[in-house]
Amino acid sequence: MTTPLLAKLKKRIVATGPLSVVDYMSACLADPDHGYYTTKEPFGEMGDFTTAPEVSQMFGELLGAFCLQASDILQLGEPFQLVELGPGGGTLMADFLRMAALQPGFMENAQLNLVEMSPRLREKQADTLKHAPLAPTFRDMFSEVPDGPLIVIANEFFDALPIRQFIKTELGWSERMVGLNDEGNLSFGIGVAQLEQSALPAYAAHAHRDAVLETQPAANAIASQIAERITRFGGLALFIDYGYTKSALGDTLQALYKHAYDDVFAHPGAADITAHVNFEALARSAAQAGAHVHAPLTQGDFLVKLGLLERAGALGYGKDPKTQECIRDAVERLAAPDQMGDLFKVLAITHKPLALPPFDLLWHPI
Ligand code: SAH
Repeated sequence: MTTPLLAKLKKRIVATGPLSVVDYMSACLADPDHGYYTTKEPFGEMGDFTTAPEVSQMFGELLGAFCLQASDILQLGEPFQLVELGPGGGTLMADFLRMAALQPGFMENAQLNLVEMSPRLREKQADTLKHAPLAPTFRDMFSEVPDGPLIVIANEFFDALPIRQFIKTELGWSERMVGLNDEGNLSFGIGVAQLEQSALPAYAAHAHRDAVLETQPAANAIASQIAERITRFGGLALFIDYGYTKSALGDTLQALYKHAYDDVFAHPGAADITAHVNFEALARSAAQAGAHVHAPLTQGDFLVKLGLLERAGALGYGKDPKTQECIRDAVERLAAPDQMGDLFKVLAITHKPLALPPFDLLWHPI
């Protein structure tokens, strides 16, 4: 299928040469005229994927409960900046605030910041939150959030940030590029840029030819900025995403179109395009900026330990069998190992090395 962005990218490649994977992903997701988040409605049945807060209100509520408890344990100063990165439809924050409003003082001390690049999604978020107890201030990027103690949440945000890919060739690790093949279609090729030897991670030392190595410069830079703020002013960040906790080689670039996997070149701008998050790299960036990192939990473990089953029981109490069935179904989708439970990981970053239940270990990625 020819999308408007496909035509634009082909022209650009003919004019200025192949694109890096960073450039390709950025264009697909954020092109001002034809990008996925700028133009499409990604979420829900009619969209391309369903995120945890769209599965059930329990997700945002439990995150709210966790952050309230954590801000007590960490004795966060006041007033503080409450930040969500990539709020999508605004559902998570609406559920979060409903729970947080139960704690006296929380709302009075919080300033709500939504970091969102898509003008269209900003409108949607403002609409979802129109009756919420806090009015959001929209930010283009995290660095615009005012100084002060922080609570940051990000669900399925880091997977949408562009990655670089390198391929092992006989010359070393060459950057993977997106160019045009003989038929004039988008295809992968090898560029001239090389990964510097000093940047080569140990796990890639003995890679075979054609192995793929991914780096996530944008994700690591944001984790580092947040950690640096947390170290200076105190705070907590909670990152939830699909990804891996032990760095490894492999190509994780993927596209989703109407709830099915898609070729990454099939529908540029019309399909969602993401990469798995390297949590070890995120954690290292945060630790190097001076913050404490808690060993990640799987989403299933995190939610169940926070009381997912009890919350589901309370929500279903006295309801009709169909509603109860929906709630049971949501618990499965959020926490079952073969659904979102194992693939999604939760990472917490704080300014103090305190136990923060349900996290029970600090993590020192090397
Ligand atoms: N957190 C939401 C939506 C996840 S989709 C949920 O759980 O349902 C990713 C979100 O991140 C979208 O809102 C998208 O517009 C936003 N986003 C992606 N890249 C961004 C960037 N570089 N800066 C700001 N927002 C971004």
